[in-house]
Amino acid sequence: MSKLIISISGVRGIIGQNLTPTVAAQFASAFGTYLLREQKTEKKTVCIGRDSRPSGQMIFSAVAAGLTACGLDVIDLGIVTTPGAGIMLTENNCAGGIVITASHNPTPYNGIKLLLDNGIAPPPATAEKIKQIYNQKEFILTESTKCGKILKNDNTDSVHIEKVLALVDSKKIAQKKYHVILDSVNGAGGRAGVKLLEKLGCKVTKMNYQPTGLFAHTPEPIKENLTELAEQVKIKNADLGFAQDPDADRLAVVDHQGNYIGEEYTLALCAKKVLAENKTDTCANLSTSRMIDDVAASAKVKVIRTPVGEANVAKAMIENNCLIGGEGNGGVIDLRVGPIRDSLVAMAHILGLMAETDLKISELKDSIGSYYMNKTKIPADPENAQKLIQKAIQTFKDAKCDTSDGCRLDFQDGWIHIRTSNTEPVMRIIAETKDKETAEKYLTRIDSIRQEI
Ligand code: MG
Repeated sequence: MSKLIISISGVRGIIGQNLTPTVAAQFASAFGTYLLREQKTEKKTVCIGRDSRPSGQMIFSAVAAGLTACGLDVIDLGIVTTPGAGIMLTENNCAGGIVITASHNPTPYNGIKLLLDNGIAPPPATAEKIKQIYNQKEFILTESTKCGKILKNDNTDSVHIEKVLALVDSKKIAQKKYHVILDSVNGAGGRAGVKLLEKLGCKVTKMNYQPTGLFAHTPEPIKENLTELAEQVKIKNADLGFAQDPDADRLAVVDHQGNYIGEEYTLALCAKKVLAENKTDTCANLSTSRMIDDVAASAKVKVIRTPVGEANVAKAMIENNCLIGGEGNGGVIDLRVGPIRDSLVAMAHILGLMAETDLKISELKDSIGSYYMNKTKIPADPENAQKLIQKAIQTFKDAKCDTSDGCRLDFQDGWIHIRTSNTEPVMRIIAETKDKETAEKYLTRIDSIRQEI
């Protein structure tokens, strides 16, 4: 039986094995206890959204029980996108939020993701406190007359879509009458995604639209999982294809010829659009492609790099007054909508860029240029991982080095990022260079360091 994972992003496990109603209720009570005890606020409501997994309602019931038992009221948002849940949290002046999702993990999984009242996941020290309350079962439970209420709210999509539409010139996009195929993988994003695209005047062909949580293909929106979408775009002569992950915070793009554009381009394209209109700095995690640096350089703004993780990027964006930022996995954040990665934001900006420039997605991709990227993971315990990182820094001592998350070594002709995973006993090694040979040159040296250790 696999282990329940409790990390800074909440709990993730397998239904019927380790993610049980007891775990869900107690974890929610731990969060509720934290909010009541530590947050100096009068806010006493937590909103809860969930993706489309069949286990979502069961986990919702348990989580709602855990929170109301502490005396907190709950707003039940139903099946919504993760960014939508984040928006509703702020709109309803909540003390916090919970999203019941296991993101791109397959159907047997589910998870409980926590958000604080600023719409961002708890920082590591806070997450640790909540975990401690959970482990020690130190819940503040209230008496009968003070138990919380559960209220329903069905407005998430409309509030969300309105905020996204405000970012772009809808009329200009609508004039183009783009034909878009949207693959929502039977996750939570189909309904809101289709509504947004229709409001932008697109002809929408729905693919895997029903929010059943029975994913039509492996849900991570990467090339090998989107062959059907790519084919459909070609057959139906569509202008482009969009693919969401099950909780709709990530977006991948397919061009009119059915070519998978790659998730790294999602952020680069959105940044190109936003930075042309607003000269603010931008943020990306250390594993994100240099394409963002190129886009920022032509807009004459800076890129602030952060450790991997949505919360790190969002925090840096707020601190540095950025509008647009995100992660290379197709996760785009526009702070005007909220501090959460958002596939709807990404769709609107990409269509906006196409309409503005009158270019096809393939032409826009070419205008950004390309690099060769290699992502690998190797088994490593924490001690060896540290050794490898230290040795790599010594070996490449002429490189520009950032050690805020493992080490990222920047060279003239590329970079390598070596970091330990938060959730598995592995190291992730990402290399991006101008061509394959250069990447291999660096990776071979890393591999010989590894063998020495
Ligand atoms: Mg996701």
